[in-house]
Amino acid sequence: MGLAHVHWLLAGIDEIAAFRLVFRDDRTTDVRGTGRLVWHGRTLVWTPGGPYAHLRYTVAINRQRPPGTHFDSYATPDWIATRALHLFPEINVRFRTGVAAARARLRFRLPRGWHSATALAALPDGTYLVEEPGKRFDRPRGWLLLGRIARYRHTIAGLEVTVAVAPGSPLDVRGLFRLYGKTIPLLVGILGAPPPRLLIVSAPDPMWHGGLSGEDSFFVHGRIPIRSPDKTCSYLHELFHVWQPFHPSADGRWVSEGLAEYYSLALPYRAGRLSPQTFVRGLALFERYGRWGSDLTRTRVPAALNNSAPLVMHWLDHEIRRVTDGHRCLDDAVRSLAHEGGTLTTASFLRAINQAAGRDFTPLFRRHVYRGEPPPERAREDDAGVGH
Ligand SMILES: [Zn+2]
Repeated sequence: MGLAHVHWLLAGIDEIAAFRLVFRDDRTTDVRGTGRLVWHGRTLVWTPGGPYAHLRYTVAINRQRPPGTHFDSYATPDWIATRALHLFPEINVRFRTGVAAARARLRFRLPRGWHSATALAALPDGTYLVEEPGKRFDRPRGWLLLGRIARYRHTIAGLEVTVAVAPGSPLDVRGLFRLYGKTIPLLVGILGAPPPRLLIVSAPDPMWHGGLSGEDSFFVHGRIPIRSPDKTCSYLHELFHVWQPFHPSADGRWVSEGLAEYYSLALPYRAGRLSPQTFVRGLALFERYGRWGSDLTRTRVPAALNNSAPLVMHWLDHEIRRVTDGHRCLDDAVRSLAHEGGTLTTASFLRAINQAAGRDFTPLFRRHVYRGEPPPERAREDDAGVGH
């Protein structure tokens, strides 16, 4: 039936007065615990009432992701692909006194022959260390793959990459590591120090036919090849999102999508894994499949975010190189945004672009970002020849 039985054991929680747990939907049932449990809709106020306490509940793992009939959390007799946030609700803690230092561990009890893969640090005793930056009460994060799975691990440029593959997923793991071996070092030069760990979860139908990023981890459907028919790469696109040290605001969404998709084409090209002709072909497909004539800062249309935005990124890259005689490029703008961190907006992006270019790109933004005009074709022809 695909049920997870979740059991919290808490010890020495004298500093905690109460928990407020916010469940996402109705998939959690049979909630029991020590102390007092009071429900307000999907919110549970739990007063453990003692230094030792426990809470248990059951979660139906399967969750459909509209549109269509695919899932972003699914259990089969052989494997389970899900995210920690499906098993652990949003948690707010009311502390009684000053500073509390929590030490949390996650342990799975699995059928015989099953293994686990998580985005958390594995400990020698088979548990996982649970750490949530900036939180006093830590909660497990990221994607999980459990079952009769295969796990592959490589450290590339300081990043420990684990690829976890469910039975029936045809992912070319060696090919992925070859690509990452060439491109992760390039990303370090753009986004800075990588996250401590990266988990890639690969599973077959009926999982979501695309990529979904999480904390220090992402899912990509096993049928998605390393190079998509449009020459871009979902495994680099999602990696960019997991790594990006900034959070896009509503009007910065096109920037983060545009950068993730543009670099998923540009990095393999720079690494010598795409010919100049294939790179230019990828740019031409961005133009063909783009949605033009709409304001990129406001649109939610996938064709605009996944095709128009990355082509505009290429145009910006090209223009910065042109006006600086090849001394600066889009990387310089992204590097300064990554260094700043915080919230990514259209305004902060324009500022970083102007700084990299040493001139005001506002008129160019007006045409190609706000009015959504396609960039001129000549940039693409030029660029196949530009040395990177
Ligand atoms: Zn994306």
